[in-house]
Amino acid sequence: IQKLIIERLIVKNAKDEIYELYKLHLAFENVIAQVYLDRYTKKLQSKNNLRISSLSDIYEKNIINHYQAHLEWLNDLAKAVEFRNSKFFPQTNHTLCTFGKWLQDSGKTIIQNNSKFKSVSKQHENLHLMAKQIKNYIAKKEENNHILLTCLEKCEMLSLSLGTELALIDNTLINSKASKDPLTGALNRQRLNQLYMNQLEISYATSEPFVLVMCDFDYFKNINDTYGHLAGDKMLKSFVNLVKKSLRNSDMIIRYGGEEFVFILPAIKTEKARVLLNKIRVDFSEFFIIHEENKISTTLSMGMLEIDPDNEESYLTDFENAISIVDKKLYEAKNSGRNKVC
Ligand code: GH3
Ligand code: MG
Ligand code: MG
Repeated sequence: IQKLIIERLIVKNAKDEIYELYKLHLAFENVIAQVYLDRYTKKLQSKNNLRISSLSDIYEKNIINHYQAHLEWLNDLAKAVEFRNSKFFPQTNHTLCTFGKWLQDSGKTIIQNNSKFKSVSKQHENLHLMAKQIKNYIAKKEENNHILLTCLEKCEMLSLSLGTELALIDNTLINSKASKDPLTGALNRQRLNQLYMNQLEISYATSEPFVLVMCDFDYFKNINDTYGHLAGDKMLKSFVNLVKKSLRNSDMIIRYGGEEFVFILPAIKTEKARVLLNKIRVDFSEFFIIHEENKISTTLSMGMLEIDPDNEESYLTDFENAISIVDKKLYEAKNSGRNKVC
């Protein structure tokens, strides 16, 4: 149709024909959009129901728990669009929906961090603004399926990033409350399995991948043998402090064994994580401690794995499998020369 329009315009300058063709074009676009929109509204509801069931499996939830009310709100929105019914529309005022009421009240106290609270509130408000637009479009009863589709997609995106934001705040709270390894201040290994499963459910509920990392110092035994255990201990402690500078408060550092650490990095993909881990690797290789007038340094090998909730390879959901994969990656790094991220 577009080709025909251009041809008529350039060759014939036939304005009436162009107008007819243009109307046809819009009608055609609208029909296609309707097919997509119908499919999308149904799929959104079924995906949301899965997200809700993942939420209920999260072991340690403070704030993310309240996200459920919000996902239910999103389901109602999808339903209202599916049936083009503005009468049964969910609450459009962001201070009056279940999640919004909680946020203004106890949510504000629990979140503690004021800038985090503001960013969550803003995201939530934007979401409701978009919902208001959808309501207006439905009320107009025009042929505007492609606009509805775009708006609803935006609502889903905003909802997921709201969920991620809440989950990250929860992680920060877990990090501050959990018991720590007395030497390094990293989290204790006993919690690792649970923390991993927790992150996995969060990842399903928010459709965000996360990254699992295993790292091990290179030739660390030499440091102990040459300079003594106290020097080694100092190195371990410094390492965790150095890593914390590059990671976010919501990332988790777990002491897995002697000089082996596991990181759980929420809401990040392979590419970004690789850059981040390489920065830590380089920073650590350039770092040194002074112990009894000796300058001591070492390097780090790492294995990493992205766990993507939208990838249906279910074997990854198992904690033992995920750990054994990062362990293999770590040994790949060791065997190919150390001071590496695989
Ligand atoms: P590589 O990993 O590169 O193969 O060599 P490595 O020498 O680091 O070998 P490995 O990881 O097997 O050795 C771990 C060493 O870490 C053994 C022990 O001397 C040291 N280590 C483990 N826990 C502690 C600790 O709490 N304090 C100190 N100072 N050393 C520790
Ligand atoms: Mg080791
Ligand atoms: Mg080692």
